[in-house]
Parts: sequence; structure tokens; C-alpha cells
Amino acid sequence: MQRRTFGGIGLVLLASLLGCGDGAQNGVFPSGSVEERRTRALLDRMTLEEKVGQMNQYIAPIYAQSLDSPDPAGKIDPLLAQGLVGSFLFVTDASEANALQEKASRARLGIPLIFGIDAVHGLAPVRGATIFPTPIGMAATFDVDLMERSGEVTAHEMRVTGMHWAFSPVLDVARDPRWGRTAETFGEDPFVVAAMGSALVRGLQGPDHAHLRVLACLKHFLGPGLPLGGRNMGPIEVSERALRSTFLPPFQAGVEAGALSVMAAYNDVNGVPSHVSEELLTNVLRHEWGFRGFVVSDWEGIEMLHTTHHVAASQKDAIRQAVLAGVDMHMHGEGFSEPLVELVREGAVGAWRIDEAAGRILRVKRALGLFERRYVDAARAGSVLASPGHRKVALEAARKSIVLLRNEQDLLPLRKNLKKVLVTGPNADNTALLGDWTAPQPAENVITVLEGIRAAVSPQTVVHFVDAGRVFEETNEAIQRAADEARGAEVAIVVLGENETRYDDRGVLDRRRRERTGGEGADRADLTLVGRQMDLVRAIVETGTPTVVVLVNGRPLAIPWIASNVPAVLEAFEPGLAGGQAVAEVLFGDVSPSGRLPISIPRSVGQLPVHYDHPRSAESPYVDESFEPLYGFGHGLSFTRFVYADLRVPERTRRGEDVVISVVVRNAGARAADEVVLLFVSDVVASVTRPVRALRGFQRVHLAPGERQVVQFRIPFASLAVHDRRMERVVEPGTFEVSIGGLRGSWIVEQK
Ligand code: BGC
Repeated sequence: MQRRTFGGIGLVLLASLLGCGDGAQNGVFPSGSVEERRTRALLDRMTLEEKVGQMNQYIAPIYAQSLDSPDPAGKIDPLLAQGLVGSFLFVTDASEANALQEKASRARLGIPLIFGIDAVHGLAPVRGATIFPTPIGMAATFDVDLMERSGEVTAHEMRVTGMHWAFSPVLDVARDPRWGRTAETFGEDPFVVAAMGSALVRGLQGPDHAHLRVLACLKHFLGPGLPLGGRNMGPIEVSERALRSTFLPPFQAGVEAGALSVMAAYNDVNGVPSHVSEELLTNVLRHEWGFRGFVVSDWEGIEMLHTTHHVAASQKDAIRQAVLAGVDMHMHGEGFSEPLVELVREGAVGAWRIDEAAGRILRVKRALGLFERRYVDAARAGSVLASPGHRKVALEAARKSIVLLRNEQDLLPLRKNLKKVLVTGPNADNTALLGDWTAPQPAENVITVLEGIRAAVSPQTVVHFVDAGRVFEETNEAIQRAADEARGAEVAIVVLGENETRYDDRGVLDRRRRERTGGEGADRADLTLVGRQMDLVRAIVETGTPTVVVLVNGRPLAIPWIASNVPAVLEAFEPGLAGGQAVAEVLFGDVSPSGRLPISIPRSVGQLPVHYDHPRSAESPYVDESFEPLYGFGHGLSFTRFVYADLRVPERTRRGEDVVISVVVRNAGARAADEVVLLFVSDVVASVTRPVRALRGFQRVHLAPGERQVVQFRIPFASLAVHDRRMERVVEPGTFEVSIGGLRGSWIVEQK
């Protein structure tokens, strides 16, 4: 990246000297279009203060109260009246949205507001919305079309509630599951992150970038998935090769999918905080990839340049550096606008840069149609949020996301006419399955695992529930009771895991509550089950009653004892509002599990980082442990048996030629089921070390018993490229190996 820095600065200067900023050619609308002319005419009428106002985002007044930071001085209304606010975050209902828009409309120019929210897995921060599995579960579906449809549902629910901007997708490649935000990611593999992330961009924004459904936001740019020690916001130290081959490609894919906003990351990359990285925010993003939208800071990310990173001596200098590096909008609040106006008046920030930033924001507002229609019909939201059609998509996602880790002697699926089933464990009957960024939901909208099981079994089956307490709280007495009940049951189902929800039982926002073991700001030094969950499961297994463990959690958990001693283990991740139904359908055989792990489950924290696409040199075992994870990337069992045959790979391909590979997959079992077909490629000899294998294609197919299907992949030539010793991105000729479903083949990429 270093090499391009100066060229990048040159381009920015040239653009500003020509007076075009990122302007018409590189903007959302073609130059000369009505929209572009209107944007420019509006900019011409705006004062410096109004332009800077567009660059500033505030917390929605109602949400601010829940954060204990209300607006006692009543500052917001006067700012709105003067047209000095561009955006709010966490407006959570249509009435508040309309009221704020109305206040903004009364300002001199009446520019509409844009409302952003962390709609990371559905519009979960809003009560009553459809909640999908958290992204780690969505990734486990390996279903790009479903991912896109989930985005469409989210966009629809956002629009009727008056919101326009999802702070999603999260494109961080998760390389350290101690990081509490692992559940927000699509896992460890850049190929999967890119595919799922761009599908979500398409679903959220829709096909027409001049008429957006809602705005997507690629975050966090760049690198929080590998923070030092797994700690949130921690620095990332990586080679340029790793940046370019692992961490940047998902963002490039998101830009190519048309995303029109990007959020800077809190962390620094090789010593440079992302918020001041002109290299990332301007050179890579805009000059290399042609990004046309705007860059938003993370929540107080600019302030942290001064208070945490100490790369700025004052808040004002932090603003100067961030804006010059390429941050167009500040999240959130006071202390930004006045210093920025001063900086422009002092000549420290060029007025062109303000025009550029405000122009980018205004163009996106125009693409969202806000100038024509800023209000919503508050009465409509009720019939759209969690509508039957939307819930159906969430249920489909939950079903496809569940990963069967282990199934000794085919304990699963269970018979529906069991006499007595014990259900216990801290996550059996709570809302942990909704994951982080979720507001408290109406109980009738959410199906817990216990409720799902009750609905799935025969009317004669007794489902006995022992409430064993919360993740930290199992008592001897509860454990004893659960074990006693297990003795009399035919099967025990123990639902364990973590809890990322942000609200306590009274619905009060409390990110720091003890029970919260994952999510933003909840990193862990250990990956075993918290509290006394292991005591609980051991006591139940010791009774000799066949036991199933269901894990509801967002990050991989090190569970070696369970993996050797519990016959059946389901990884449900955080399956969303219909999750309990989906889990029960898998347990009782209505649905054959088909999710695959998008992230490795380590044996212990000591193995970290552990991911499948390591170079060969990383395979030396420990004295006390294997180098391999407990369950690797792509693992996932089924209730049926799929047989792979007839792998077809060409012998040779020419330079520039895509390679077409096919395989026949047959359902050799007795149940209809989905199979996720994964295609891995390895570059046998290269000028630099290569991963032992890298995913280059995946497809989900549905096969009836006995049915077979030819599954074909087209691997683009460019996707075989490597950053060679001179950091040039090239496809090096030679042998490439391919593996699919245990079959192997190879082909030669010719010199010419
Ligand atoms: C997170 C972002 C999020 C923002 C707004 C920050 O703490 O890092 O991912 O979008 O808050 O809620």
C-alpha cells in the first residue's frame, strides 16, 4: 500500500484543483443529470456551517435517554432549526422519525435527515421487527440468495419505520474468537465474507444505485477481526500481503456490489488508526476501488484519535486529521461542527474538502429519495414488521444455519413420541438466541428452544423443564435437580452457550451486566463455557441418559469434553426470533441439518489464531495439543449421506481463462436434505507461501433421496492470483489442486 500513497494524494489535489471533488464522474449520479445539477445547486446555496452540519450525526433524542445522556439543554431543536444536523442514529420508531424530519424541514433549506441504525441481522434494535440469525449463523447457511433476501426484508422494515441507513454488513474477517463481536461477522474466510457481505449489500440497497432501498455501510474499515489479544478496538499488526489477500478483499467486493457508505474502524492498522488513514480511506477505497459514497466515523472514533490513540494533541486536531484523511461524517454529536468550521476559516482544511464531503452525503440522500419523500406513514409499520412473510425468511435462515457438530450412533433425530424429555440449561428458555444489537422483543414474537421443543413433540410426550439458572448462576441444587430429572427421561436436551443481549430483565440497556458474555465490548480471555455449565452437562451425562447439547452462542466455544462425551451436539449460533422452532425441527427430524461452520472451533484458547487457510508451515503440533481445531471450517453433518463422484477438472487452462469444474452429488440416504458443496483450491508451488487450501466456490443444493445433481463452478482466472514477492498481483503458472467433498483433482495454468 505504501507505494501508492503519494500518487493518491496527488489525485485528491488534482481533483480539488479542477473543482470536481469526487464530483459528477465519480459520484452516484452521472454528470449533467438532473440529480447532479440539483445537488450542485443546493451546495451553492449552502453556508459553510450548513455543509458541516450535513457532516454531523447525533444520537436520536429518545435513544439518548436510554443511554442516560438526554439533551437537557435542548440543543438539538435549535440545531435542527438552523439546518445544522445531517443525520441521527438510533431513531427507532416512525413517529420520532417523522417528528425529527419535520423539525429539519423548517430550516432555511429544509434538507432531509438520514437515519442510521445497527440493523446487523434484521432490524433487531427495533421492538417487533424480524430478527435473523446473527451474521455468523447467516454465514453458516452458505446461501447467498437467502442472505440477499434477508437484506431485502430488513430494508423493507427499515423504510416503513422511517430509517434509511443500515450500519451493515460487517465485513471483518474474524480471526480471533475471543473478540466479543465475532457473532457480527461472517466468519474466518475472506471468500465467504465477501460473498455474503456483497449479497447483503444487494439485498439492502436493491439493484438501482440511483434509487436505493436503504443505504448499506461496509464496516469496520479496517481490521478489527484480528485485534491484539482479541480485545475490542485493539491494534492489528499485519503484513501488507495479509491485508491485501485476507482483510481488504471483502471490502472491495462490497464496493463493487455498490455500497455507498463505509465506516472507519476504531483500531489502528500497523500503527496508523483507521480514522486518519488516508491510505485506506482515500487511496485504497476511492482511487483503487472507485468508491462513490461517503465515509462515516465510528461512534466517537474521531475523539479517540486524541483520547485513546494519542495521534492528535487535541480534539480539533483529531477532526482535522480525520477529515483530511477521508472521513465525511462524524458519529456522533457535539464538539465536531464548530472546530471544523474554524479549521476551514483558518485554512487548515480546504473548503473543497467540505464541499466534497457534504456533496457525497447529499447525493446519497437524493439516491434514497429523501428530497421527494421524507415522511412515513407511522400506521403502516405494524403490518410490515415481523409479518408472516418476513418471519418465513427468518425461519428459513434459522433452519439452514444450524450446524450438526456430532451425532454418535445417530442419536439424532429424536423420535417425536418419546415418553419424557428433559430440557434444561441456561439458554433453553431465554432470548440469548436473538444475539447482540437486539431490543427487548414481545414474548409472542420469539420462539425459545423450549417452546420449539414443546411444539415439536407428540401430545403424549412429557417435556420436563428444569430452570438451571443463567449462564453464570447454576447452583448445586439446580444441577442436582436437573440430573435427577434426567434419570427418569429418555433423552436430556441441554441448551448451553453465551448471552450477548444488551438489555437486562427490565428492558434497561446494560451492556456491562455480568451475564453478558459476548457481543460488542464483551471479549473473553477464555473460550470454555462460562459459569457452571460444564458441571451441569457433566452431571447429566453421568446419569447415562442419552444427552444432546444445543449451543446458543455467537463465538466459537472450546468444548473438547463435550465433543468426546456427549453423543449429539448442535451448534445453533444465535438463530433469531424463529430459532427455537428451527432447533426443534432439527432435533426431531423435520429438517435435516445443513449448516456448515464458517469459522473453526478451537480446542482451546492456546491454539489461537486457528483458521483453515494457514500456510503449510503452520502445521507443527503442540506438545500438549493438536494443531488442528476441534471442528474445522466447513464442518457440518447431515441426517442423510451425500456421495460425491465424477469430479471434472480440465487438464490445462490458458492465461486469462476461467476454469470450469464440476462434480456429481448424490443423496444416498433416505431423507430429502440440503448439501453445501464447498470447493477448495490450492496453489501447489508459488513464489510466496500459500494457504494449504482456499475456498473458491460454494453452492447449496437440495436433493431428494436417491437424487443426483451435477454441480458446476466457474472459477475466475483472477481469483487464482497471489501477491508475489514484489507485491504484484499475478496468477503464477503451474499446478493448482482442487478438492470437493473428499475428491481431488488438479489442472495446470499455462504460461501463456
Ligand atoms: C460500533 C459500530 C456501530 C456504532 C453505532 C459502535 O460502537 O463499533 O459497529 O455501528 O457503534 O451503534
